Amino acid sequence: MITIKDKTDCSGCSACYAVCPKHCITMCPDKEGFLYPTVDTNLCIDCGACDKVCPLMKPLVINNGNTSAFAVQNKDESIRMQSASGGAFSAFATVVLNKGGIVFGGCFDKDFNVCHDSVSTINDLKKLRCSKYVQSDMGNTFSKIKSLLKEGRLILFSGTPCQVEGLNSYLKRKYDNLITLDLVCRGTPSPGLWKKYLAWHSAKEKSPITYVSFRNKHFGYAGSTMAIGFKNGKIKYQSRAIQFFKYTFFQDLNSRPSCFRCHFKTIQRNADITLYDCWHVNAFSKDMDDDRGTTMVLLHTEKGENLFNETKPFIRFNKADVEKAIKLDGIMATQCTVPNPQREQFFKDAQDIPFEQLIKKYFPLSIKKQCIQWLKPVIYKLGILNHLKRFISK
Ligand SMILES: Cc1cc2nc3c(=O)[nH]c(=O)nc-3n(C[C@H](O)[C@H](O)[C@H](O)COP(=O)(O)OP(=O)(O)OC[C@H]3O[C@@H](n4cnc5c(N)ncnc54)[C@H](O)[C@@H]3O)c2cc1C
Ligand code: SF4
Ligand code: SF4
Ligand code: SF4
Repeated sequence: MITIKDKTDCSGCSACYAVCPKHCITMCPDKEGFLYPTVDTNLCIDCGACDKVCPLMKPLVINNGNTSAFAVQNKDESIRMQSASGGAFSAFATVVLNKGGIVFGGCFDKDFNVCHDSVSTINDLKKLRCSKYVQSDMGNTFSKIKSLLKEGRLILFSGTPCQVEGLNSYLKRKYDNLITLDLVCRGTPSPGLWKKYLAWHSAKEKSPITYVSFRNKHFGYAGSTMAIGFKNGKIKYQSRAIQFFKYTFFQDLNSRPSCFRCHFKTIQRNADITLYDCWHVNAFSKDMDDDRGTTMVLLHTEKGENLFNETKPFIRFNKADVEKAIKLDGIMATQCTVPNPQREQFFKDAQDIPFEQLIKKYFPLSIKKQCIQWLKPVIYKLGILNHLKRFISK
């Protein structure tokens, strides 16, 4: 029976929850707000299926051969603007949906909690588009996928590497009608902290939240701006340096413990396709460097290559050298982040002190940062933001 003694040994993929024949595993939040399996020992028959399925309890075996890399942009500018990087995910998903397939990925529920869901129409695809930097609740995704695969439906599953490994382990065998797509993954922040953060925003603004984008491109791709919209019509745009939730993510304060000892940090993967941000697009194509976002796509299997060939009418692309592409932007494909020494105290404080105080303690906004925040819309309106960004990055 699954017992989590060390929290770094559970990525929360939910494979054990899905496999249990007695349905006696529940995914419950811990004090930090991350989901972990909890077993009802009264119902457990000690069959061992949960231990056997856990991808963190076995060595990672990768059966794929060569990996190739492409810098990709979706030709549809509005899709690209709504996507975290170049909108490559939407191009892959479109091909699958056009064939009558079903696409699974991370989305927001009505309260902006992050969970996995499926779409079967192009119109619904927008709900899966764009990264949400919060751990996604998998719910019954794995069992739904298994039933659909058995019915012969074409499935595209998109998720973090640990979710893809969890799904593969749960399914036990390969399915010709399953395509898996994972991400280069820095880590996943706490869903519990996210909930508190949204509640704080909503209370401060005295208005319910109606829109969230972790990667809004209002001020271009390079700023990595987060946008939060309210029912009262206000939209707050904040770049990573002045945005508490993203700042604490990049300071390695709010990610899941397993992310600091991630078992899935490799270039070659069992996923058919891997996506990540191609910040250095200039190194691969000068023409594609337009500050609207580019996805680096890694193809690991023939299935991935075939799907990529079918997306060609929807994308602009340029072949890239894998080693260079990893070195420039994909370092998180192979390296784990190191937990911030304040991480434990941070989560303790998140329980004990009001959110306003938590923000002040861990995220003091310097005068310089505040000035940049105030000046940004003015600079943007004057049309000199991009020149300034280039000047600062030199
Ligand atoms: C938690 C997380 C961490 C990441 N870390 C890095 C990183 O360190 N470096 C890097 O270069 N890129 C990272 N990425 C990937 C990057 O943000 C883009 O998602 C990627 O470049 C694809 O962009 P796109 O424009 O092609 O597709 P998009 O339309 O942006 O598609 C995003 C895809 O991610 C899925 N997704 C969204 N949120 C989640 C979630 N919470 N859990 C699982 N799946 C989700 C969606 O279903 C969709 O398939 C991360 C993404 C996530 C979700
Ligand atoms: S040992 Fe079997 S019955 Fe018990 S929790 Fe694990 S899968 Fe469920
Ligand atoms: S990593 Fe996945 S399978 Fe393993 S214990 Fe955690 S949720 Fe269960
Ligand atoms: S860093 Fe590793 S363990 Fe953490 S979410 Fe990403 S793939 Fe999963």
